Amino acid sequence: MIAVSACLAGVPCRYDGGSNYCEAAGLRVALGEALCICPECLGGLSIPREPAEIVGGSAEDVLAGHARVLTKSGVDVTEAFVQGAYAALEFCKIHGIKEAILKAKSPSCGCGMIYDGTFSGHLIAGNGVAAALLRQNGIAVRAECG
Ligand code: SF4
Repeated sequence: MIAVSACLAGVPCRYDGGSNYCEAAGLRVALGEALCICPECLGGLSIPREPAEIVGGSAEDVLAGHARVLTKSGVDVTEAFVQGAYAALEFCKIHGIKEAILKAKSPSCGCGMIYDGTFSGHLIAGNGVAAALLRQNGIAVRAECG
């Protein structure tokens, strides 16, 4: 069993109430090979919600308490992102999940590239908060579907 970002399986849990359906992830769920996680929802954030980006460091810095996750209007949502990451990790542990296909560029799920914290659409090398925590705990994460 693997985990997939819920929005990749067609769940409308994205910040704007949309989804990012991706056949590679959706088929795995339909075949019973994958379970959906949405770290931001697990952290208690609503749908829709204001977009957020990591500011002042990396996802690993956020987990260590040295950087923040802020919404576009400046609301600090760090706690929700960290809580959601730990909830996603717990879910993976309960289900014996060792691999995850996650939504690219997200401040929660992104793997390898994320937005740079300026809300200008620029990408930098880095992970989302949940992706970083899963990776730190031995779960293989990879980005899918742009
Ligand atoms: Fe999709 Fe992850 Fe964002 Fe949830 S937190 S909407 S699963 S990218």
